[in-house]
Amino acid sequence: MYTNSIEVLEVAPRDGLQNEKTAIGTPDKLALIDRAIAAGARRIEVTSFVNPRAVPQMADADAVAAGLPDRDDVTYIGLVMNQRGAERALATGRIDQLGAVAVATDTFAMANQNQTSDGSVYAARAIIAAAQGAGRTGQVTIAAAFGCPFEGEVAEARVLAMAAALAQAGPVEIALADTIGVANPAHVGRLVAQVRDLIAPIPVRVHFHNTRGTGLANVWAAIAAGATTVDAAIGGLGGCPFAPGASGNVSTEDVVYMLERAGIATGLDLGALIDTNHWLGALMDRTLPGMVARAPRFPKLS
Ligand code: ZN
Repeated sequence: MYTNSIEVLEVAPRDGLQNEKTAIGTPDKLALIDRAIAAGARRIEVTSFVNPRAVPQMADADAVAAGLPDRDDVTYIGLVMNQRGAERALATGRIDQLGAVAVATDTFAMANQNQTSDGSVYAARAIIAAAQGAGRTGQVTIAAAFGCPFEGEVAEARVLAMAAALAQAGPVEIALADTIGVANPAHVGRLVAQVRDLIAPIPVRVHFHNTRGTGLANVWAAIAAGATTVDAAIGGLGGCPFAPGASGNVSTEDVVYMLERAGIATGLDLGALIDTNHWLGALMDRTLPGMVARAPRFPKLS
Protein backbone atom coordinates (compact mmCIF):
# COMPACT_ATOMS: atom_id res chain seq x y z
CA MET A 1 0.00 0.00 0.00
CA TYR A 2 1.18 3.51 -0.82
CA THR A 3 -0.72 5.21 1.96
CA ASN A 4 -2.31 4.95 5.40
CA SER A 5 -4.94 7.61 4.75
CA ILE A 6 -7.40 8.22 1.93
CA GLU A 7 -9.79 11.04 1.13
CA VAL A 8 -13.38 9.95 0.53
CA LEU A 9 -15.30 12.42 -1.63
CA GLU A 10 -19.04 12.31 -0.90
CA VAL A 11 -21.13 12.27 -4.07
CA ALA A 12 -24.57 11.28 -2.74
CA PRO A 13 -26.17 14.72 -3.14
CA ARG A 14 -25.36 14.71 -6.88
CA ASP A 15 -24.52 11.30 -8.38
CA GLY A 16 -26.52 9.60 -5.63
CA LEU A 17 -29.76 11.48 -6.23
CA GLN A 18 -29.67 12.41 -9.91
CA ASN A 19 -31.15 9.12 -11.12
CA GLU A 20 -33.74 8.65 -8.34
CA LYS A 21 -37.42 8.41 -9.25
CA THR A 22 -38.45 9.91 -5.90
CA ALA A 23 -38.07 13.69 -6.08
CA ILE A 24 -35.96 14.83 -3.14
CA GLY A 25 -36.64 18.39 -2.00
CA THR A 26 -33.97 21.01 -1.52
CA PRO A 27 -34.29 20.98 2.32
CA ASP A 28 -33.69 17.22 2.37
CA LYS A 29 -30.66 17.61 0.08
CA LEU A 30 -29.27 20.26 2.43
CA ALA A 31 -29.98 17.97 5.41
CA LEU A 32 -28.04 15.21 3.64
CA ILE A 33 -25.12 17.60 3.08
CA ASP A 34 -25.25 18.63 6.77
CA ARG A 35 -25.18 15.00 7.82
CA ALA A 36 -22.24 14.26 5.52
CA ILE A 37 -20.30 17.15 7.03
CA ALA A 38 -21.18 16.01 10.56
CA ALA A 39 -19.89 12.53 9.65
CA GLY A 40 -16.55 14.09 8.63
CA ALA A 41 -16.88 14.72 4.88
CA ARG A 42 -14.71 17.65 3.83
CA ARG A 43 -15.20 17.50 0.06
CA ILE A 44 -18.72 17.06 -1.27
CA GLU A 45 -20.18 17.03 -4.77
CA VAL A 46 -23.30 19.01 -3.89
CA THR A 47 -25.15 19.35 -7.20
CA SER A 48 -24.76 19.72 -10.95
CA PHE A 49 -25.48 22.80 -13.02
CA VAL A 50 -27.01 21.08 -16.03
CA ASN A 51 -30.13 21.49 -18.11
CA PRO A 52 -33.06 20.80 -15.73
CA ARG A 53 -35.00 19.17 -18.56
CA ALA A 54 -32.22 16.61 -18.95
CA VAL A 55 -31.73 15.96 -15.22
CA PRO A 56 -34.84 17.10 -13.29
CA GLN A 57 -33.42 16.04 -9.90
CA MET A 58 -30.75 18.74 -10.25
CA ALA A 59 -33.15 21.56 -11.22
CA ASP A 60 -32.65 23.16 -7.77
CA ALA A 61 -28.85 23.54 -8.15
CA ASP A 62 -28.95 27.28 -7.42
CA ALA A 63 -31.12 26.81 -4.33
CA VAL A 64 -28.86 24.03 -3.03
CA ALA A 65 -25.80 26.26 -3.52
CA ALA A 66 -27.52 29.16 -1.76
CA GLY A 67 -28.36 26.94 1.23
CA LEU A 68 -24.91 25.42 1.76
CA PRO A 69 -23.52 25.81 5.28
CA ASP A 70 -20.81 28.47 5.50
CA ARG A 71 -17.78 26.27 6.16
CA ASP A 72 -14.20 27.25 5.36
CA ASP A 73 -13.09 23.67 5.96
CA VAL A 74 -15.41 22.06 3.41
CA THR A 75 -14.88 22.12 -0.36
CA TYR A 76 -18.15 22.23 -2.28
CA ILE A 77 -18.06 20.85 -5.81
CA GLY A 78 -20.51 21.68 -8.57
CA LEU A 79 -20.51 19.37 -11.59
CA VAL A 80 -20.75 21.19 -14.91
CA MET A 81 -20.75 20.05 -18.53
CA ASN A 82 -20.14 23.31 -20.40
CA GLN A 83 -19.29 26.98 -20.16
CA ARG A 84 -22.87 27.96 -19.35
CA GLY A 85 -22.92 25.51 -16.42
CA ALA A 86 -19.57 26.85 -15.24
CA GLU A 87 -20.90 30.41 -15.31
CA ARG A 88 -24.02 29.41 -13.36
CA ALA A 89 -21.99 27.56 -10.73
CA LEU A 90 -19.48 30.38 -10.30
CA ALA A 91 -22.25 33.00 -10.16
CA THR A 92 -23.64 31.36 -7.00
CA GLY A 93 -20.48 32.41 -5.17
CA ARG A 94 -20.81 29.24 -3.07
CA ILE A 95 -19.14 26.62 -5.23
CA ASP A 96 -15.44 26.15 -4.41
CA GLN A 97 -14.54 23.73 -7.15
CA LEU A 98 -15.89 22.89 -10.59
CA GLY A 99 -16.04 19.27 -11.63
CA ALA A 100 -15.83 18.73 -15.38
CA VAL A 101 -16.50 15.50 -17.26
CA ALA A 102 -14.66 14.18 -20.31
CA VAL A 103 -16.06 11.00 -21.80
CA ALA A 104 -13.81 8.29 -23.22
CA THR A 105 -16.00 7.33 -26.21
CA ASP A 106 -17.81 9.37 -28.85
CA THR A 107 -21.16 7.57 -28.52
CA PHE A 108 -21.41 8.05 -24.76
CA ALA A 109 -20.09 11.62 -25.02
CA MET A 110 -22.90 12.41 -27.46
CA ALA A 111 -25.53 10.81 -25.16
CA ASN A 112 -24.17 12.44 -22.01
CA GLN A 113 -23.29 15.94 -23.21
CA ASN A 114 -23.85 16.15 -26.97
CA GLN A 115 -20.15 16.31 -27.82
CA THR A 116 -17.50 14.05 -29.27
CA SER A 117 -14.96 12.60 -26.87
CA ASP A 118 -12.35 15.10 -28.07
CA GLY A 119 -14.96 17.86 -27.76
CA SER A 120 -15.53 16.87 -24.13
CA VAL A 121 -11.79 17.14 -23.45
CA TYR A 122 -11.70 20.69 -24.88
CA ALA A 123 -14.82 21.63 -22.91
CA ALA A 124 -13.35 20.23 -19.69
CA ARG A 125 -10.15 22.22 -20.19
CA ALA A 126 -12.21 25.37 -20.70
CA ILE A 127 -14.23 24.67 -17.53
CA ILE A 128 -11.05 24.22 -15.49
CA ALA A 129 -9.73 27.49 -16.92
CA ALA A 130 -13.00 29.26 -16.03
CA ALA A 131 -12.75 28.02 -12.45
CA GLN A 132 -9.14 29.18 -12.20
CA GLY A 133 -10.05 32.54 -13.72
CA ALA A 134 -12.63 33.02 -10.96
CA GLY A 135 -10.13 32.17 -8.22
CA ARG A 136 -11.56 28.67 -7.75
CA THR A 137 -10.21 25.23 -8.63
CA GLY A 138 -11.23 22.70 -11.22
CA GLN A 139 -10.96 18.96 -11.58
CA VAL A 140 -12.05 16.51 -14.21
CA THR A 141 -13.48 13.03 -14.36
CA ILE A 142 -12.86 10.71 -17.32
CA ALA A 143 -16.20 8.94 -17.65
CA ALA A 144 -16.53 5.43 -19.05
CA ALA A 145 -12.79 4.98 -18.50
CA PHE A 146 -13.18 1.22 -18.01
CA GLY A 147 -15.97 0.48 -20.46
CA CYS A 148 -18.75 2.14 -22.44
CA PRO A 149 -22.45 1.24 -22.41
CA PHE A 150 -22.59 1.75 -26.18
CA GLU A 151 -19.12 0.92 -27.56
CA GLY A 152 -17.98 -1.76 -25.11
CA GLU A 153 -14.26 -2.02 -24.33
CA VAL A 154 -12.31 1.23 -23.97
CA ALA A 155 -8.63 1.18 -24.90
CA GLU A 156 -6.24 2.14 -22.09
CA ALA A 157 -4.28 4.20 -24.62
CA ARG A 158 -7.36 6.39 -25.19
CA VAL A 159 -7.72 7.10 -21.47
CA LEU A 160 -4.00 7.86 -21.15
CA ALA A 161 -4.12 10.28 -24.08
CA MET A 162 -7.09 12.06 -22.52
CA ALA A 163 -5.38 12.24 -19.13
CA ALA A 164 -2.28 13.79 -20.72
CA ALA A 165 -4.37 16.40 -22.55
CA LEU A 166 -6.45 17.20 -19.47
CA ALA A 167 -3.42 17.49 -17.17
CA GLN A 168 -2.22 20.48 -19.20
CA ALA A 169 -5.17 22.49 -17.90
CA GLY A 170 -3.91 22.19 -14.31
CA PRO A 171 -6.78 20.35 -12.61
CA VAL A 172 -6.42 19.65 -8.87
CA GLU A 173 -6.84 15.98 -9.83
CA ILE A 174 -8.01 13.67 -12.59
CA ALA A 175 -10.55 10.98 -11.81
CA LEU A 176 -11.10 7.69 -13.59
CA ALA A 177 -14.77 6.73 -13.51
CA ASP A 178 -16.30 3.33 -14.04
CA THR A 179 -19.61 4.92 -14.95
CA ILE A 180 -21.41 1.65 -15.68
CA GLY A 181 -19.75 -0.66 -13.15
CA VAL A 182 -17.87 -3.00 -15.48
CA ALA A 183 -14.30 -2.60 -14.16
CA ASN A 184 -12.29 -5.33 -12.48
CA PRO A 185 -9.40 -4.88 -10.02
CA ALA A 186 -6.65 -5.92 -12.44
CA HIS A 187 -7.79 -3.38 -15.04
CA VAL A 188 -8.15 -0.73 -12.33
CA GLY A 189 -4.69 -1.34 -10.90
CA ARG A 190 -3.09 -1.19 -14.35
CA LEU A 191 -4.87 1.97 -15.49
CA VAL A 192 -4.52 3.88 -12.21
CA ALA A 193 -0.79 3.13 -12.08
CA GLN A 194 -0.27 4.32 -15.66
CA VAL A 195 -2.30 7.50 -15.22
CA ARG A 196 -0.57 8.24 -11.90
CA ASP A 197 2.86 8.01 -13.53
CA LEU A 198 1.71 10.07 -16.51
CA ILE A 199 0.16 13.02 -14.63
CA ALA A 200 2.28 13.17 -11.46
CA PRO A 201 2.29 15.24 -9.30
CA ILE A 202 -1.41 15.68 -10.12
CA PRO A 203 -3.26 13.09 -8.01
CA VAL A 204 -5.62 10.38 -9.26
CA ARG A 205 -9.19 10.05 -7.94
CA VAL A 206 -11.44 7.08 -8.69
CA HIS A 207 -15.20 6.67 -9.06
CA PHE A 208 -16.80 3.23 -9.04
CA HIS A 209 -20.31 1.93 -9.44
CA ASN A 210 -21.12 -1.42 -7.88
CA THR A 211 -23.34 -2.61 -10.71
CA ARG A 212 -21.65 -6.01 -10.93
CA GLY A 213 -20.36 -6.32 -7.37
CA THR A 214 -16.76 -5.35 -8.12
CA GLY A 215 -16.91 -1.88 -6.54
CA LEU A 216 -15.01 -2.47 -3.30
CA ALA A 217 -12.41 -4.70 -4.95
CA ASN A 218 -11.82 -1.89 -7.45
CA VAL A 219 -11.45 0.67 -4.63
CA TRP A 220 -8.79 -1.50 -3.03
CA ALA A 221 -6.94 -2.03 -6.30
CA ALA A 222 -7.02 1.70 -7.04
CA ILE A 223 -5.57 2.62 -3.65
CA ALA A 224 -2.88 -0.05 -3.99
CA ALA A 225 -1.97 1.51 -7.34
CA GLY A 226 -1.69 5.02 -5.88
CA ALA A 227 -5.11 6.68 -6.10
CA THR A 228 -5.48 9.22 -3.30
CA THR A 229 -9.21 10.00 -3.35
CA VAL A 230 -12.23 7.73 -3.68
CA ASP A 231 -15.72 8.89 -4.63
CA ALA A 232 -18.53 7.25 -2.66
CA ALA A 233 -22.22 7.85 -1.99
CA ILE A 234 -23.92 7.34 1.35
CA GLY A 235 -26.31 4.40 1.02
CA GLY A 236 -24.80 3.31 -2.29
CA LEU A 237 -27.26 5.45 -4.20
CA GLY A 238 -26.54 6.55 -7.70
CA GLY A 239 -26.60 6.04 -11.40
CA CYS A 240 -26.30 7.87 -14.66
CA PRO A 241 -29.46 8.89 -16.54
CA PHE A 242 -27.61 8.57 -19.84
CA ALA A 243 -26.04 5.13 -19.27
CA PRO A 244 -28.44 2.21 -19.68
CA GLY A 245 -28.38 -0.15 -16.69
CA ALA A 246 -26.13 2.02 -14.53
CA SER A 247 -26.66 1.49 -10.79
CA GLY A 248 -25.36 2.76 -7.49
CA ASN A 249 -22.01 4.15 -6.46
CA VAL A 250 -19.90 2.27 -3.96
CA SER A 251 -21.44 3.14 -0.60
CA THR A 252 -19.54 5.47 1.69
CA GLU A 253 -20.27 3.26 4.70
CA ASP A 254 -18.94 0.15 2.97
CA VAL A 255 -15.78 1.92 1.75
CA VAL A 256 -15.14 3.41 5.20
CA TYR A 257 -15.72 0.08 6.93
CA MET A 258 -13.28 -1.70 4.62
CA LEU A 259 -10.56 0.96 4.77
CA GLU A 260 -10.73 1.75 8.49
CA ARG A 261 -10.70 -1.96 9.39
CA ALA A 262 -7.67 -2.33 7.11
CA GLY A 263 -5.83 0.48 8.89
CA ILE A 264 -6.38 3.19 6.28
CA ALA A 265 -7.79 6.34 7.86
CA THR A 266 -10.67 8.18 6.17
CA GLY A 267 -11.56 10.81 8.77
CA LEU A 268 -15.16 9.64 8.58
CA ASP A 269 -17.42 8.40 11.39
CA LEU A 270 -18.91 5.04 10.42
CA GLY A 271 -21.74 5.24 12.97
CA ALA A 272 -22.86 8.62 11.67
CA LEU A 273 -22.77 7.32 8.09
CA ILE A 274 -24.88 4.27 9.01
CA ASP A 275 -27.40 6.55 10.76
CA THR A 276 -27.54 8.68 7.60
CA ASN A 277 -28.08 5.58 5.44
CA HIS A 278 -31.11 4.71 7.61
CA TRP A 279 -32.40 8.30 7.50
CA LEU A 280 -32.05 8.39 3.72
CA GLY A 281 -33.69 4.98 3.33
CA ALA A 282 -36.69 6.19 5.35
CA LEU A 283 -36.88 9.31 3.20
CA MET A 284 -36.89 7.23 0.01
CA ASP A 285 -39.04 4.49 1.51
CA ARG A 286 -36.72 1.65 0.54
CA THR A 287 -33.69 -0.27 1.69
CA LEU A 288 -30.56 1.23 0.19
CA PRO A 289 -27.90 -0.91 -1.53
CA GLY A 290 -25.08 -0.27 0.99
CA MET A 291 -24.37 -3.48 2.94
CA VAL A 292 -22.63 -2.45 6.16
CA ALA A 293 -25.69 -0.47 7.31
CA ARG A 294 -27.80 -3.64 7.09
CA ALA A 295 -25.35 -5.83 9.02
CA PRO A 296 -24.81 -6.10 12.80
CA ARG A 297 -22.20 -3.64 14.08
CA PHE A 298 -18.71 -5.07 14.22
CA PRO A 299 -16.86 -4.80 16.46
CA LYS A 300 -19.72 -4.43 18.91
CA LEU A 301 -20.19 -1.02 20.47
CA SER A 302 -19.03 -0.99 24.10
ZN1 ZN B 1 -21.16 7.99 -11.15
